[in-house]
Amino acid sequence: MRIGTRVTRTGLPPAMQGAPFLPGPTFASTYHAAGDPASAPLTYGRFHNPTWTAYEQALSELEGGPAVLFASGMAAVAAIFGVVLRPGDVVVLPADSYYTTRVLAEGYFTQMGVQVRLAPTVGNAQQQALTGAKLLWLESPSNPGLEVCDIAALAAAAHAVGALVAVDNTTPTVLGQQPLTLGADFSMASDTKALTGHSDLILGHVATREQEWADRLRAWRTQLGAVPGPMEVWLAHRSLATVDVRLERQCHNALALATWLASRSDVQEVRYPGLPHDPAYTIARRQMQRFGPVVSFVLADRQHAEAFLAACQLVYEATSFGGIHTTAERRARWGGDAIPEGFIRLSAGCEDTEDLLADLAQALDTTL
Ligand code: PLP
Repeated sequence: MRIGTRVTRTGLPPAMQGAPFLPGPTFASTYHAAGDPASAPLTYGRFHNPTWTAYEQALSELEGGPAVLFASGMAAVAAIFGVVLRPGDVVVLPADSYYTTRVLAEGYFTQMGVQVRLAPTVGNAQQQALTGAKLLWLESPSNPGLEVCDIAALAAAAHAVGALVAVDNTTPTVLGQQPLTLGADFSMASDTKALTGHSDLILGHVATREQEWADRLRAWRTQLGAVPGPMEVWLAHRSLATVDVRLERQCHNALALATWLASRSDVQEVRYPGLPHDPAYTIARRQMQRFGPVVSFVLADRQHAEAFLAACQLVYEATSFGGIHTTAERRARWGGDAIPEGFIRLSAGCEDTEDLLADLAQALDTTL
């Protein structure tokens, strides 16, 4: 079965007369569990929840390895760092990774005795930093710069020196890129973004090549106790059924907008891995099935970027990305990334392509 069919029913129970397709969320902090706990299928709400299990089964099926759900993308990042890294270990991070991933590693984990090495995503530069590493962390395409690295080549190089490999796959989702198939040990994503796509929940997950790592991640989640809420997980599972159609439109819109932006003389440095003249295109085409909803570009300066965002009618000015509504922000307003003041990260939604193109055109023309 192809992916568009699989996502509509992945993780659903077998058809049963009179039962719903996707059972509603199970709200329970405790379950009937008399006698030996080992004989009770469910005991306590921090340990397990049938709504989590159904969504985790769906993710496992799509990722190609056992998946563990977390209360946010950052909880998923922290869980990988937490189960893998010990004092004295070296982690190689992209210098251009999602900012908070670097903050967590360079703050908390450095204080715990972990050595953090940074190298850019572009040009597979992380490969030069692998000697003695315990964990290679990749993010491709990177957020917000949309640089791409060769995941299979870097995974092979890391394994050759005994390092584990984790990929933050948030931007493309598992429909756009499968890190475990490309050789990674961990495929991590913020499900807050395109995978669920409705801007109404915060979640994350990690899928692993080996069951043992999934067991350790699950134990980490149980013991730290920051568990996902059943309502969010149920919404995520419901949203997963439409991810293929959402991404089809979003990626189509992203390419159309990127192509059009690249034709404008007042727009610089348009980046989209699916643009044939993008520096990342050759590798992206090899390892990605879809190029994702995120496009970036640079306007003259902060004033132009702010005026452009204010003039857009169909583009919500908001952080985050991957949702059904087109959003954009002047990314430098947050700090922490090596980007120009006029850098804009835009996430294409599911609106009509022509309407979006017209809106961007009027907004840019107003800005001049
Ligand atoms: N990884 C990437 C690439 C992200 O963009 C984000 C959030 O923006 C995260 C991880 C963290 O996800 P969450 O906000 O769900 O904790």
